[in-house]
Amino acid sequence: MHRVYLDHTATTPLDARVFEAMKPYFLEKFGNASSIHRFGQEARAALDESRAMLARFINAREGEVYFTGSGTEADNFALKGVSRAMRKRGKSHVITSKVEHHAVLETCEFLEGEGFSVTYLDVDGNGRILPDDVRRAIAPMTGLISIMHANNEVGTINPVEEIAAIAKEHGILFHTDAVQSFGKLPVNVVTMGIDLLSLSAHKIYGPKGIGAIFIKTGVEIDKFLHGGAQERGRRASTEAVPLAVGFAKAASLMHATMEEEGKRLSDLKNRLRTMLEERFPYLLFNGDREQSLPHILNVSFDSSKVNVEGDVLLLNLDLAGVAVTSGSACTSGSMKPSHVLLAMGRDERTATATIRFSMGRSTTLEDIDYTVDVLENILEKIARVPTASI
Ligand code: PLP
Repeated sequence: MHRVYLDHTATTPLDARVFEAMKPYFLEKFGNASSIHRFGQEARAALDESRAMLARFINAREGEVYFTGSGTEADNFALKGVSRAMRKRGKSHVITSKVEHHAVLETCEFLEGEGFSVTYLDVDGNGRILPDDVRRAIAPMTGLISIMHANNEVGTINPVEEIAAIAKEHGILFHTDAVQSFGKLPVNVVTMGIDLLSLSAHKIYGPKGIGAIFIKTGVEIDKFLHGGAQERGRRASTEAVPLAVGFAKAASLMHATMEEEGKRLSDLKNRLRTMLEERFPYLLFNGDREQSLPHILNVSFDSSKVNVEGDVLLLNLDLAGVAVTSGSACTSGSMKPSHVLLAMGRDERTATATIRFSMGRSTTLEDIDYTVDVLENILEKIARVPTASI
């Protein structure tokens, strides 16, 4: 059976070149980067070089990049670390948006429990955060603004430079979650005016279990993990040297082909969009058409025109060899519509009848054609006209 993986936003396969780069650091150069002897120094050199490489890709200084266990941890570090530190300066308000990843949203909810207040900004119909809304939400107690660079469900890119400039004008720190954009769009912490930024390796053909946070020099932030003096005393834990090496290698491979690959993916995305538009007139396209990541296409079945059960559709696609994600999350066994689509104004039924296609390096034209054919066959069997319109 033809198998098509169109879920690169969830995770990517490890690149074989990344695996080769990591291998010696699992098997031979296995030292603890904090050890004084040669084994330790070998590991330390690889760790420093990996950090320096990552720093270069975002135009940061080497000492401003800290490795974490994941993108989720980087988000937790930024939000909890800055909030706790800013409380000492009398600040207790955080601004974020309704379409952030759960790593940010749930951390904000946790912070509310700790006595902080949080404003969750609305978005426009394309899932974009409007800089004027950010400006209006600023209060004397605001100490942190956290707005994602690009959305992981619909691909919409936010005007982070403008938002960062507003934050700066008011002396407020600005964090952005760049987990989905890094390696696909240029990220420059200096020209974009970013104070803190989250990254993750497994979205760019790197290993799972490692992320990174950029913390601009001078930013007041509490340490995240207590223990040893690793990561300049801010994030204790024996450093995951092989994973750091893999992360840096993955980032360098992404950056070497970013432009051509971005173009190739957006051509594939346009083809997929055109085919879907031609064959399924009741489809709604989610996210901004122009300001969007090149590899994500998110579509919903308009509930006023057609009834499609999102989970049934997904299961049938999987049986036919096509792996995609729907617009719902399985929370404690029940399907919940995506918070992102609801924030964009989709109704609950439409939001659950959603497919997110996310393409990657291995995606071909044939994969796209096969996927649309399979989708057509499945919809012939499972799509129903809603009772209200009969
Ligand atoms: N932020 C965004 C925008 C993401 O898409 C993800 C992963 O889906 C994360 C954070 C979490 O990253 P990780 O899987 O490395 O914890």
